[in-house]
Amino acid sequence: MHRVRFAPSPTGYLHIGSARTFIFNWLYARHNGGTMILRIDDTDVERNTQASLDSIFEGLKWLELDWDGEVYRQSERGELHAASARQIFEAGHAYRDFTPARVESEDAADSGHGGWLFNPGMRELSREESDRRASAGEPFVLRFLVPRETRESVAFTDLVYGPQTKATADIEDFALLRSSGMPTYHMASCADDADLKITQIIRGQDHLTNTFKHQLIFEALGVEPPQFAHLPLLIAPDGAKLSKRKHGPVVSVTTYRDAGFLPHAFVNFVCLLGWSPKDDRERMTRRELLDIFSLEGVNRSNATINFSETEPFDPKAVWLNAETIRNLPVDELSAELLPFADASFGWIPGSGPEPQRLVPEDKIRRLVPLVAPLIRERIKLLGDIRDAADFFFLPTVHPDPLELIPQKGDAAMAALVLQEAEVALAEATFTHDGLDAALRASAEKLKIKAGQMFQPIRVAVCGRKNAPPLFETLEVLGKDICLERIAAARKLL
Ligand code: GLU
Repeated sequence: MHRVRFAPSPTGYLHIGSARTFIFNWLYARHNGGTMILRIDDTDVERNTQASLDSIFEGLKWLELDWDGEVYRQSERGELHAASARQIFEAGHAYRDFTPARVESEDAADSGHGGWLFNPGMRELSREESDRRASAGEPFVLRFLVPRETRESVAFTDLVYGPQTKATADIEDFALLRSSGMPTYHMASCADDADLKITQIIRGQDHLTNTFKHQLIFEALGVEPPQFAHLPLLIAPDGAKLSKRKHGPVVSVTTYRDAGFLPHAFVNFVCLLGWSPKDDRERMTRRELLDIFSLEGVNRSNATINFSETEPFDPKAVWLNAETIRNLPVDELSAELLPFADASFGWIPGSGPEPQRLVPEDKIRRLVPLVAPLIRERIKLLGDIRDAADFFFLPTVHPDPLELIPQKGDAAMAALVLQEAEVALAEATFTHDGLDAALRASAEKLKIKAGQMFQPIRVAVCGRKNAPPLFETLEVLGKDICLERIAAARKLL
């Protein structure tokens, strides 16, 4: 039986590291025919936000990731957490700490010289005395009584990092319940993991040290601890742990979506952060990932995400995206490009809070499937459509007169080419072959090279030299627009 869970705290935007945790749990569950549980760790009422919760669901939806059954919310499971804390207390594995300073700070304890210092008397408080003070309303923190006297260490075997041991002398008497009665992360998480019968906990390496405490809690609850697999840290190029505060938007999943990553390319990239198949494959379909994913492929060294001011996204992510774009069926690619085309060309820039249409929506809808095959080799992100295809959508182009001049030619040649092109295109059939034949015949007639013929036309209709193949471009633009733009360009010469 395999039951795993993703347990985000809704306190910020969906982080790329959280997405990876979800994806690895999900692949593990789906690969093993197990169950994927989504649990929202929302006990920290002061830090939780609805926006954060929305961003988690939005991100998962974008990535086409699902889970099984209901969404569990810790905030609705307080009774279970309290009952589990009571069980641990009744079994003698916890004590009430009435020390005022600690109750306020909710901190565990100070690391003392050669051990943990607890205010004297709290561990040893008799049950009667403890009950009496509690019923008198004295605030307390419920702490786990780490068995330092009877046990030397806590150990477990991590599925990624191997055998782990920690001396009990190095584990403080951590809190289970705050003075408000609210459970701490340790208490709520273990109570839920036990109740939901989680069999493997797959989470970030930053939780590895918590796992010793969690072992103790599971034991105190009288349940077999789940297996643990910790995932290597995600590191920024500066060597620091990836963080939103330090590294900005590259950390947030929505940044990738908004820049025009395809969901699968992003998933593929994230999988390579700390995991690899046992061969050198990098591009994998979702089916392949599901077939080959295993925790044995997770490595222990930190995974670096590369980005810089000039390259805001990891080159591997960009490469995977470009490859995915190239290999997508045109109808799917068009559907993905449509919102980017509409946002880029549909509206008058800077037209205020109620933007006004520049290009009608039906025109954009009609053009995107025609443009998609022409630009798919030329874009890496869906958002690149803005620069790669503007001349298909926008009403006018603004060619640089110098660029109209063909190689080894002059302004007179450009003028001649455009004049001849106007005549030839007026007559031509607007298909690839029709345009090819017409323009090659024109070049022969003018006794110039085909390239010298094409360049002024390309610059006149596209506004620049760097553009998709000419005949297809002319075909998509249509005769009227081509003639109009050539006439306008002739005036520039
Ligand atoms: N809510 C915790 C987090 O987001 C969950 C950690 C865990 O998986 O136990 O870090």
